Order: sequence, then C-alpha cells, then structure tokens
Amino acid sequence: MVQDGLRRIPSVHRLLGTEPLRSLDVPAPLREAAVAGVLDELRRRARAGGDVPALPVIADAVAAAARSMLRPSLVRVINATGIALHTNLGRSPLAPAAVAAVVQAARGYSNLELDLQTGRRGSRRSHLGRWLERLTGAERALVVNNNAAAVYLALRVMGMGREAVVSRGELVEIGGSFRMPDIMRESGVKLVEVGSTNRTRIADYERALGPETGLVLKVHRSNFRMTGFVEDVPVDDLSALARSRGLPLLLDVGSGLLDGGHPVFGGEPSVAALVRAGASVVTFSGDKLLGGPQAGIIVGEARWVEAMASHPMARALRVDKMTIAALEATLRCHADPRQALEQVPVLRMLTVTPESLRPRLLRLARRLRRAVPGVAPVIQEETTEAGGGSLPEHPIATVVMAVEHPAPERLERSLRSFSPPVLARIHRGRLLVDLRCVAPDEESELLGALVAALKEVSP
Ligand SMILES: *Cc1c(COP(=O)(O)O)cnc(C)c1O
Repeated sequence: MVQDGLRRIPSVHRLLGTEPLRSLDVPAPLREAAVAGVLDELRRRARAGGDVPALPVIADAVAAAARSMLRPSLVRVINATGIALHTNLGRSPLAPAAVAAVVQAARGYSNLELDLQTGRRGSRRSHLGRWLERLTGAERALVVNNNAAAVYLALRVMGMGREAVVSRGELVEIGGSFRMPDIMRESGVKLVEVGSTNRTRIADYERALGPETGLVLKVHRSNFRMTGFVEDVPVDDLSALARSRGLPLLLDVGSGLLDGGHPVFGGEPSVAALVRAGASVVTFSGDKLLGGPQAGIIVGEARWVEAMASHPMARALRVDKMTIAALEATLRCHADPRQALEQVPVLRMLTVTPESLRPRLLRLARRLRRAVPGVAPVIQEETTEAGGGSLPEHPIATVVMAVEHPAPERLERSLRSFSPPVLARIHRGRLLVDLRCVAPDEESELLGALVAALKEVSP
C-alpha cells in the first residue's frame, strides 16, 4: 500500500515537464521550491497510507503553490473599523504630499547629506530640524526610528546610568512589546517608582530625588485611562521641582499632538504646550496624531538633544531618506493647523462629523439591501476611539452601519479573506461598518466584499 503510493509520486523532472508548469510565469527557483514542497507533502501523505492524486492534479497544486509565493505579503486593506490609528493596520496613512515625497526620494538621488551651497557634507537632521523646532517651540530636534527608540536614547543620555524617578501609575505597556520598565533597564537607568498606581503627589517625587537621581520621567498614559480616585502631578509642577534640583525632566507623550485646537482632542496638551511647561525633552511618535511615517521624534533643550545626536546609538537608530521625505512633507502640512485637519488623513478621519458620514452610510445600506435581499442594515450612532495609543480618554462620536447576523464572527472572517481584505468591528453580536477611515473610492470594493460575505455565510 505505502510502497504503491510512494511509487506513484512523480519525479521532479516529469512534473516540471507538465503543461501548467512549463508555461508558468514564475522564476525557476520558486517553481522548484514549490515542486519540492508539494512532493514532500505527498510523500508524507503516502507514508501515512493516504492517496496520491493523478499527475495533472499534482501539477495544478504546484502551479498554485508557486503563484502564491509571488503574491505580495503586505497588501492594502480596507479599514472599516473606524479606528484611524490602528497599529495592526499600519497606523497613519500618509498625506498625498508625503506619498509623493517618498516616491521622489526613493526613485533617485537627493541631497540627503549634502550641503548644496558649499558642496560639502551636510546633515540629514537639517531637513526636519527647522520644521520641528518651529512647530514645537523647542530648541532642537532629532528624529529616530520610532518612539521606543526615542525613549531609549533619551533615557540612555539623560540618565547616564543613574536613577530615573517615575510614577508607579505610568509604567505602561504599549502594544505588548513596549514595556516601560524593560526599556528603562535596557537603557542602563535604574527605575525608581514613586507614588501608588492611582495617586502620585509632588511630595512622593521630592522624597525620591537624591544624589543618585539622573532624571525625572513622566509617561503619558496613552492607551488606558484611570478614573475615580486619581491624583497626578502636572508637568509644570514636576518641571519646577526637577529644575530646583538641577535635574532634567523627560516626557514621553507618545501620541504627539502638534495642535490641540479641535474639540475632538479633548484638551490633550500639544507638544508645544509641554515644551512651554518646562519639559527638558519630549518624545513622541511620527505615526500617531502627527499623521506621518513611523518615526520617533525627540525635541527639547539643545544640550540634551545634541548629546543624543552625537551618541553612538543615534547612528543605529537613525531614519532613512524615505522617512525623512515623508516626515518633512507631513510637517509642512502642519504649518497651518486648520489646513492640517484637511490634508493629514489621520486628522481628517478623527475630525470628520457623524453628519457627514451618514449620507455615505445610507447609500451603502441601500446598495447592500438591493444586492442581498433579506439583509436589513441599520444606521446607528456609536462611539469609536483614535487607537494607536492616542486620546484614550476621548471616545469619538460616530455613526455606523450595523448588520444583524446569526454568525457575525464568520461574516467578519469572510470579509477579511476578501481581496482587498476588509476589516470591520463586531459589537454586541452585530457587524459594524464605519466609513470614517474608508476612502470614497473604496466604497464599491467594500460593498462587493459585504455582498460576497453575506452570500457566502448564509444564515
Ligand atoms: C506609542 C507609544 C510609545 C511607542 O511608540 P512607537 O512609535 O510605537 O515606538 C511609547 N510611549 C508612549 C507613551 C506611547 O504612546
């Protein structure tokens, strides 16, 4: 039985000579790898006493496997979750100007590190420094790979291996892999926790500051909220205390709002306000509320930022030309805060009003009802969040299309397997579709996915 099965497995040569494989437009190494993979599987199956299919069936399987190797792994998805800064979906989409800048930087050569006036070596910092200094009011700026890297470098340089005093309520974990205590350990500073989980007073800091203290650290609680019996020390009080002891204050704000003028930001302080309040250094992400590429932005006093820029680790954490191009273009959009709300996709999505979403939802629901008789989508008010560790205390009013279905999880899975995949939310047994982060020209694809999913997962 087993010998029989093994004998029926075709040779590599014979398989490669079959029609689907001879004319297959896949590079030879991939084609051969696909053959090897399928033959391995067949041998395993034959040894277990399983059937070996006929040659054409095997050839088709190899062709499919070879083609799938060429399919891109990173693909566009439609974000119908309503969460603008979805870390798993790549956080912030770029503004058209930023996309154009990336393409240009990627395609050819640039003055990345060349001073065009003198013809001598320039600094890659020059392209972003002026913008960041202007927009935050800080003396100097430095951009690194992401905010985790920014915090690491800042702790390394400002802490100098001594103690960092931080409130117990701020030892946050973000996205499972950024744990403040771990980063602190790696950066060589010793963690000194003060206060309790829910309350930290200025006196708690005062008691902890001593000859071994290197800096005071304050971390924005970016992905959770604390309510009830809570006490916290404002930035200006903390900075006054740090200053009186000759210590620097490092603020990790994460989300990095450049202008908090819009009500959706709920009074969240801007980076400029935190710099004014006396922080020595502020760090934040480039791809949260700034709406740019992944980056970690460090702004603050010249002595600290320059020390970070010349630290050997700065080279290991530096950003590439495409990030610089995208970030420069994004910062230009922020030059006028009102314009930024229009031009920066994340800001536009966060500030879009439920009223302006409603007509689009009604049209989508109408088209869906027409395409799938029996389905009864309803338009309802909901709340959403910014996501990505931003604005945790500010639920955002939205309006969604809710689809009642006995198996919403299967519906959600089916939408995810569509091309392009569609991501939606499930809430209280209903599938929710939010158009806040869906471009108008994606609506037809979204409808197609919904129709296909509802037909595939018939109740
Ligand atoms: C998001 C966040 C980080 C991590 O930033 P990345 O850019 O993802 O590395 C660190 N600290 C705070 C407070 C954050 O909100």
